[in-house]
Amino acid sequence: MSKKKGQAKVRIYPDWCKGCGICAAFCPAGVLELWPDGKAHVVHESECVNCGFCELHCPDFAISVTPRETSRRKSDDEVDPRAEVAEMAQGTDPGPEENVGTPNREDEHGHKKE
Ligand code: SF4
Ligand code: SF4
Repeated sequence: MSKKKGQAKVRIYPDWCKGCGICAAFCPAGVLELWPDGKAHVVHESECVNCGFCELHCPDFAISVTPRETSRRKSDDEVDPRAEVAEMAQGTDPGPEENVGTPNREDEHGHKKE
């Protein structure tokens, strides 16, 4: 998780926020404020250090903090080879084999079929 400023998008869902103020009180970067409307608001998103505290401690799951997409593509030597293998395997996995069981060699009267 990145701890640099301005790396995260902070979103508050007002319908779920009950205005307890925990997020605003404990945000280390002053990103959040409790307003007179009784809801928390994002006031300085660019200061967010993506610590995740607000999202973790909001009792009503009313905050989401998501890392911003960076425009820079990873160079080849930064790519995790395991992730590449997982990507290549996607879509090629035939999935669990269907268990067809043993063929039914008896008819409904219990007589053996040839
Ligand atoms: S912690 Fe959650 S419920 Fe409390 S003010 Fe912040 S967003 Fe609203
Ligand atoms: S992730 Fe951390 S810095 Fe960002 S708004 Fe939440 S508590 Fe504040």
